[in-house]
Amino acid sequence: MRQNFSAYSFRLKKNKNYINILFVSILFFLLLLPIKNFSQSKNSKPFVVVLDAGHGGHDSGNRGNGYFEKKIALNIVLKIGKKLEKTPDIKVIYTRKKDVFVDLIQRANIANKADADLFISVHCDAFTSPKAFGAGTFVLGLHANERNFKIAQKENAVIFLEDDYEQNYDGFNPNDPESVISLILMQETYLDQSIEAASSIQKSFVSNLKRKDRTVKQAGFVVLKYTYMPSVLVETGFLTNSSEGSYLNSSKGQSNMSDAIAKAIINYKSQRESSMQNQISYSDSTKLNIKLKKQVSLLFKIQISASKKIS
Ligand SMILES: [Zn+2]
Repeated sequence: MRQNFSAYSFRLKKNKNYINILFVSILFFLLLLPIKNFSQSKNSKPFVVVLDAGHGGHDSGNRGNGYFEKKIALNIVLKIGKKLEKTPDIKVIYTRKKDVFVDLIQRANIANKADADLFISVHCDAFTSPKAFGAGTFVLGLHANERNFKIAQKENAVIFLEDDYEQNYDGFNPNDPESVISLILMQETYLDQSIEAASSIQKSFVSNLKRKDRTVKQAGFVVLKYTYMPSVLVETGFLTNSSEGSYLNSSKGQSNMSDAIAKAIINYKSQRESSMQNQISYSDSTKLNIKLKKQVSLLFKIQISASKKIS
């Protein structure tokens, strides 16, 4: 009888050892499974940038010192595009690559259809005083002052050259400051990212090119209103200023400006990716912890119930 009891107790111990080995193996397998899935989940969609050269065709833009804003904007945009096209994971789309007129709403539609990650509209500024100079970047918002309203008014005036502007822009009047308030609601969603992109461009102008810093500002630009993505309008400098005008009209000036803007876009892309990665890592590690806790508690329940049956 005693011998039988010893044999039974030996078998019990042996079974418990098997269960423990099985428990550790399953736990190890479950630990590996979610980590493998996490490392496989990578975003393969390219970063889509829409480059918008302001004006074109019968709309020359401003003619400060006899220069053509539409030509300078297009040259800068094409140069930015060439640089970005060489960058991995970036897809470039242009609203125009030639000297043609494109409605403002059509420019936004091109970006929306492409489901773009960033919209950059390139322009040159003009002012009544030839002394004004420097590069500035704008995001959509209320005009903080009369000067910003004037800049937006000038860029928005192009809609008067369009055939159906009253229908297309819901009765928007570029000359009425009140009319602009209705513009800003949609872009509010992307305001933080638009400011992040604009700041990156502005920093690049100042640190790479030593341009006068006219800072990031908010104003009511129609072209930025209809885009469903972070959007920035760049005023590369004043054609009405003699030295800045000739710099922007020169091949060297256009190369420098496009270099600075392209670098800023690449920099913004990296910032967004690292911020997205942090968000993904955080939510994934939280999900992973919850999943593991559930799995471990389930395994303990199985082990306890198995041990009870044996003993
Ligand atoms: Zn313009």
